[in-house]
Amino acid sequence: MSTPPPALSNSSDDLPELRLKPREDRRIAGGHLWIFSNEVDTVRTPLTAFATGAHCRVVASNDRFLGYAYVNPHALICARILGRDPEFAPGKSLLVHRLQVALALREKLYSQPFYRLVYGESDGLPGLVLDRFGDIVVGQIGTAGMEAMKPAIVEAVVKVLGPKALIWKNDSGARELEALPSYVETAIGPDIEETVVEENGVRFFVPMGRGQKTGWFYDQAYNRRSLLKYVKGARVLDVFSYLGAWGLAAAAAGASEVLSVDSSAPALELLQRSAAANGLHNVHTERADAFDALAALRAAGEKFDVVIIDPPAFIKRRKDIPKGQAAYRKLNQQAMQVLGRDGFLVSCSCSHHLGLDDLMVTIQQAARHVDRFAQVVEVGGHAPDHPIHPAIAETRYLKSLFCRVVQD
Ligand code: SAH
Repeated sequence: MSTPPPALSNSSDDLPELRLKPREDRRIAGGHLWIFSNEVDTVRTPLTAFATGAHCRVVASNDRFLGYAYVNPHALICARILGRDPEFAPGKSLLVHRLQVALALREKLYSQPFYRLVYGESDGLPGLVLDRFGDIVVGQIGTAGMEAMKPAIVEAVVKVLGPKALIWKNDSGARELEALPSYVETAIGPDIEETVVEENGVRFFVPMGRGQKTGWFYDQAYNRRSLLKYVKGARVLDVFSYLGAWGLAAAAAGASEVLSVDSSAPALELLQRSAAANGLHNVHTERADAFDALAALRAAGEKFDVVIIDPPAFIKRRKDIPKGQAAYRKLNQQAMQVLGRDGFLVSCSCSHHLGLDDLMVTIQQAARHVDRFAQVVEVGGHAPDHPIHPAIAETRYLKSLFCRVVQD
């Protein structure tokens, strides 16, 4: 879009050098992929000499080759490593290789092609997410370096998967950090409005190019499966329901009644259509702000056996931590206030900046506040199609705690 693609050469010789200051090579040599602008020897290799998205050879101050990277001279993270093999410069063949390695893992883990195929840094492709919906692929690009490689990515996806359609859902807020425009476009294939994802025996209508993120939250798939054993005969409240992935799974698994709350009318319309198509008649929806809905349910004396709270990230940046923590605390308190005497709360957070221990503390404080006793019964993270890069803490973000909440 805004930036012309740099030459996607497979020859390393013509790539410019990006030189690190003395000792700034250690984190990269230790496995991390991000180079911060203050780590670059800008006297010898000024960042201003690089076009946005250009490829480079990263070298240590002692001339040692560290890897190939793409550069964004205007971002705090000014370069991200794409590969460490000197024989394998960035280009289509590297992308094809990365996609094949990513695919091999998913094909081992999943029997159907419905999963996150590429999870950015964790799959060696910083700034790129690709989700598969059968023969449809939805991609999200988060960095200018990946944006510049878009034509080569499309070619690589066609070669490895040969999908019917590839949609770019490039509208995340994170793109602003890289001065990238927000847009949704079909790269190949026909325009597709929606598709169907089957999970936990329920067929869900999923919007393509219009919904949240890529359209579906594969990261919670394993946790939603864990929910099933808690819901037989239960009255279930699914807050921040989106398309009903938790709530409809509960209804199909024998919940007596499900109430799904979300602020998005289009999401709830799809949820209702999915419920009807699956013959699930005990599902109700309420379009409301979650905090208001929980307060109203409490005021009305409503009680549920299982409450799921799966909110969007309240803490996107470090500066949001105090406000975000307060929101998680309030939400967990409100959820416990509508739980019956011996109920289960599934409390989720997808904020990287709220760690697992922080969420534990939040739940403990919420329980004390409402004079209840909480036991954490299961601890879930993201599904294995979202592998964690052990050197990059940001690749680990999702926590789903299954808590039993009883009278103290
Ligand atoms: N639980 C879902 C994912 C939730 S995504 C799943 O497993 O698929 C977050 C959802 O929260 C979105 O659908 C969004 O519309 C909704 N949302 C965001 N802020 C909200 C608020 N204040 N009140 C109610 N819903 C909200």
